[in-house]
Amino acid sequence: MVAGQEGKTLEYSVQKQKDYFISGATKSVSKRLEQLQLLKEGIKEFEQDIVDALKQDLNKSEYEAYTTEVGILLEEIKFTEKRLHKWAKPKKVKTAITHIGSKGMIISEPYGVVLIIAPWNYPFQLAISPLIGAIAAGNTAIIKPSELTPHISKVIVKLIEKVFKPEYVTVIEGGVETSTELLKQPFDYIFFTGSVQVGKVVMEAAAKNLTPVTLELGGKSPCILHDDADIKLAAKRVLFGKFTNAGQTCIAPDYLLMPSRIKAEFIEECKRVLQAFYGEDPVQSDRYGRIVSERHFDRLLRFMGNGNVVIGGQYDREALKIAPTFIDQVSWEDPIMQEEIFGPLLPILEYESIDQCIAKIVERPKPLALYLFTKDTQLQEKVMEQVSFGGGCINDTLMHIGTPYLPFGGVGESGMGSYHGKQSFKTFSHEKSVLKQTNRFDMEFRYPSSKNGLKLI
Ligand code: NAD
Repeated sequence: MVAGQEGKTLEYSVQKQKDYFISGATKSVSKRLEQLQLLKEGIKEFEQDIVDALKQDLNKSEYEAYTTEVGILLEEIKFTEKRLHKWAKPKKVKTAITHIGSKGMIISEPYGVVLIIAPWNYPFQLAISPLIGAIAAGNTAIIKPSELTPHISKVIVKLIEKVFKPEYVTVIEGGVETSTELLKQPFDYIFFTGSVQVGKVVMEAAAKNLTPVTLELGGKSPCILHDDADIKLAAKRVLFGKFTNAGQTCIAPDYLLMPSRIKAEFIEECKRVLQAFYGEDPVQSDRYGRIVSERHFDRLLRFMGNGNVVIGGQYDREALKIAPTFIDQVSWEDPIMQEEIFGPLLPILEYESIDQCIAKIVERPKPLALYLFTKDTQLQEKVMEQVSFGGGCINDTLMHIGTPYLPFGGVGESGMGSYHGKQSFKTFSHEKSVLKQTNRFDMEFRYPSSKNGLKLI
């Protein structure tokens, strides 16, 4: 359904946005800033509705909803507002000796009409964060939220309808069918966040119209603990990364790799930290999220048969909650190691040497994130040099996503392109290169009439 345009077709919505874009209405920097300001005010106005909807859809606590969905967006808007004039200015560049007398410049221009397809795990943040970049760069946008989080999807519709005209920004709700129809439209840019499998579908559809894409995908992100890791800090930070949103985070540590000699100490420390985070019974905790759907819940329970459960294992089918669960004695061949877990199950694998650990990671698809806990700076450099991954942290988890100074995105199977901060502006802008030639003199040698032409070239 097209928000605010009941009964209208998708083609109509896209065409309206094309017309609006061509009119030039979205392009001035002052207009973009004004719209970002309105978006910021809209988010603040709907803050309680957003928090309530996230509670209904995913049992997100108010704290988690604010830090991972609302606050991060308000910061992103502020960051963009402060710098947009500078980013949007044409950049003068040097000219080649062969081009003497001319000037080179790079003009950032908006692509046009952008499609943003969002997933369900951070359903508000991942629909609105790309929108900030799209607006900052001067585009119009159509947002397709996930059908699996219907309460927040409704809030997104209300907010966008209140803040923007539909020919500028609109929301189209629906599932796979709607998404498939949308992907047939001649968008100027597609920004997709979701699974690897659907990412391939999106790229294939985009190819038909030669539409450029950003694909923010998933995968299995390793978390390496070296034997010199600060165990107390590592336990807190790994658990924070893994069990925020009940493990349903694209960059959550998917599995742990550690030498056997630190395992017992690490597991004991994790038990202590879990109790501090979620109390005696995390399944009952209000601070602990739920699994998005019964299908995902069942998929996760099937993994419990792998290895030995050493922490957790409890679940409540009615509430769709699974306790933070550590699974030891897992091998690389087990089913839990064949797909992204995307839930609160954390397998532990052992390694003998760091070289063996690196070799195992690099023979698999390039991960979206990698985490390394060690004080050894040489080891840090070695892993950074030898393993390709989207982004990550040394001695922490998740935090790289929260700073607008670091572009965020995947590589290989975990995605292509990146965003956040200035990178969002760049992602949604085409860099148009222009050479401005002088009329004061002319280089005769380049013309066929010149006798010396060939010699000079
Ligand atoms: P998904 O790929 O199933 O769905 C994402 C979106 O695509 C939804 O809006 C959905 O309606 C739509 N969609 C689903 N099937 C489609 C099809 N056949 N054709 C067209 N559109 C289709 O992903 P999800 O289950 O919502 O999210 C989980 C996945 O997203 C995980 O793999 C996770 O790692 C990844 N993810 C990545 C990031 C990132 O920033 N890299 C962030 C969040 C989630």
